[in-house]
Amino acid sequence: MEREQILALYHWDTGTCFRHPGVTTDTTVIKSLQPRIRPTEEIRACRGCVLDMEALRRAAAEGAGIPYVPGRAGDAL
Ligand SMILES: [Zn+2]
Repeated sequence: MEREQILALYHWDTGTCFRHPGVTTDTTVIKSLQPRIRPTEEIRACRGCVLDMEALRRAAAEGAGIPYVPGRAGDAL
């Protein structure tokens, strides 16, 4: 699957990537944390980081012998 096809699986909004805290850029929500006593926190990632995570997920899926399913960068596989 091509990079643009993978990126098209996500909804993009201006925000701050969890790996690049000083920069405001196009980001997508990859995880929502729901602390008991605080409002829900969204973990956002930029396009480059989403592609990095998708590449790791693809390699992990291949290593485990299971199908790679893009579009869930926040999940382990
Ligand atoms: Zn990033």
